[in-house]
Amino acid sequence: MQLNYIMASASIHLQLPNQMLGGTSSHSHSLKEMLHTSKSSRNRRVNVPSVSCNLKAKVSDMSSKAPKGLFPPEPEKYEGPKLKVAIIGSGLAGLSTAVELLDQGHEVDIYESRSFIGGKVGSFVDKRGNHIEMGLHVFFGCYNNLFRLMKKVGADENLLVKEHTHTFVNKGGQIGELDFRFLTGAPLHGIKAFLTTNQLLNFDKVANAIALATSPVVRALIDPDGAMEDIRNLDNVSFSEWFMSHGGTRKSIQRMWDPVAYALGFINCDNISARCMLTIFALFATKTEASLLRMLKGSPDLYLTGPIKRYITEKGGRFHLRWGCREILYSKNSAGETYVSGLHLSKATQKQIVKADAYVAACDVPGIKRLIPSDWQKWEFFDNIYKLVGVPVVTVQLRFNGWVTELQDLEQSRQLNRAAGLDNLLYTPDADFSCFADLAITSPEDYYRSDQGSLLQVVLTPGDPYMPLPNEEIIDKVHKQVLSLFPSAQGLEMTWSSVVKIGQSLYREAPGMDLFRPDQKTPVQNFFLAGSYTKQDYIDSMEGATLSGRQASAYICESGTMLAELRRMLQFYDVLGQVKSAESVDELTVV
Ligand SMILES: Cc1cc2nc3c(=O)[nH]c(=O)nc-3n(C[C@H](O)[C@H](O)[C@H](O)COP(=O)(O)OP(=O)(O)OC[C@H]3O[C@@H](n4cnc5c(N)ncnc54)[C@H](O)[C@@H]3O)c2cc1C
Repeated sequence: MQLNYIMASASIHLQLPNQMLGGTSSHSHSLKEMLHTSKSSRNRRVNVPSVSCNLKAKVSDMSSKAPKGLFPPEPEKYEGPKLKVAIIGSGLAGLSTAVELLDQGHEVDIYESRSFIGGKVGSFVDKRGNHIEMGLHVFFGCYNNLFRLMKKVGADENLLVKEHTHTFVNKGGQIGELDFRFLTGAPLHGIKAFLTTNQLLNFDKVANAIALATSPVVRALIDPDGAMEDIRNLDNVSFSEWFMSHGGTRKSIQRMWDPVAYALGFINCDNISARCMLTIFALFATKTEASLLRMLKGSPDLYLTGPIKRYITEKGGRFHLRWGCREILYSKNSAGETYVSGLHLSKATQKQIVKADAYVAACDVPGIKRLIPSDWQKWEFFDNIYKLVGVPVVTVQLRFNGWVTELQDLEQSRQLNRAAGLDNLLYTPDADFSCFADLAITSPEDYYRSDQGSLLQVVLTPGDPYMPLPNEEIIDKVHKQVLSLFPSAQGLEMTWSSVVKIGQSLYREAPGMDLFRPDQKTPVQNFFLAGSYTKQDYIDSMEGATLSGRQASAYICESGTMLAELRRMLQFYDVLGQVKSAESVDELTVV
């Protein structure tokens, strides 16, 4: 089976010696001037370790005035027959499905083709002890399904809450803010944020306000479910089309909305569906904490997927790493209905067929396309999946011997005694990466090192032009762009770097695509889907993946009696098959 095009590599890059310490060169003088000019920006300096924050506060309350689909009620205790479930894929969707099913008393095996769990939110430690992430991950304050999962597995203390502002870094270190900090909450805090932002000119701000005031976001304030329906009906137009037709300006798109669209879906406003962007806006407008960002204390393998794995294992769930599913085996019963009869799995040269009562494919888009038997494409349901495509994305990590995002104080940026700089997710309209963060500051547990400085993690979007480039060239281009955003970082030495390419990551949330997302329940009675690309009310994200897992588990529990009957029937067929083959052996003996 072809694997996702994932390439992770790390390389050491030695730059010119750092001449900036002590600030004696003429170069440092001009840098001091540059630093001085950006003093007005709200630069937050941090000390490591940062203050930790749990999930008891500052999480949007989704139980009231929220779209019901986004936050389903707690499932009723399952009373049906215990089922054996095989899950393909250990991304958040597979993990979420497993946790839900184990909590309902089922037996679960997870088969993952990679050597580590977590899928797109996975990470691993390389030979030099660096945590290599598949991508930069931030958590909105409305991730109720994911937060619920984190609480269950005891990971609710693993997130660090950031200042309630969205920060834009423009060329030359000019900082723009969409600042939600206000005396009162939604919707006033959002109105204040958009009216006071320094990322847009006054004319663009007014046009922006008009567009938002005439959007379904307003309906969301009183009728969240009705608003979600209106928003879903806007799936056929791009965000740019919708926004411009409501008075929004191209300049707003360039300076603010494109970086946000790239960060959300890895495509820009001309290409992303209005549904995708407005879903987020509606949550931001109605839920005070929805726009509040959190990041993990450290790497996903230790602070997110690790605790989930522990929970699953303690509840009797089993992980089978490097066991990729090669083929779905299927048959028909006497009524002509299709059912899965087993999974053909392999690990290097080993092969096995596993059988279960229910099968869940919790794959990514390229993974599910490879797995679905071609015969099943006769169903529109499965055929539609082939209309979805994955977006390429490239993640680059750069380590420096100083603090790149420290814009106020030259000396602070050149010392290594404590972390200094911007402690938040950062967007930019002026580089090939749309968003980035200094992980040594935002997620210090695994990324802050006492003898080193910034660890920038940037997300290159669109990733297409970067996919064919050698890592050295990618790193060089990113480094140059970092310096154009932070001229004060000139002279800092880049000491290490890594590149991770994902050929097909999120499904492309282009206009018209929502229609083709499959439900978790399929036309094949014992075969279910999970995955952030499947039908759920949120966008392709960690939250969407977690929600899809809850939905898959609910469908399986709902079908418990039917699945147990199917098991009995299949066992009967197996016995019948054995008797038949025994009879044929006898006949042969006689002959
Ligand atoms: C760079 C980047 C940044 C992101 N940033 C954010 C963010 O800030 N916030 C946010 O909410 N979301 C973010 N996302 C999106 C989020 O990571 C995904 O939406 C989510 O993790 C998808 O989970 P999943 O389980 O649906 O799929 P995946 O994570 O892709 O998991 C699928 C798993 O199935 C396995 N698999 C596939 N085929 C087979 C097979 N045949 N046999 C066995 N195993 C198989 C794969 O190896 C993989 O482990 C980001 C994604 C990327 C790439």
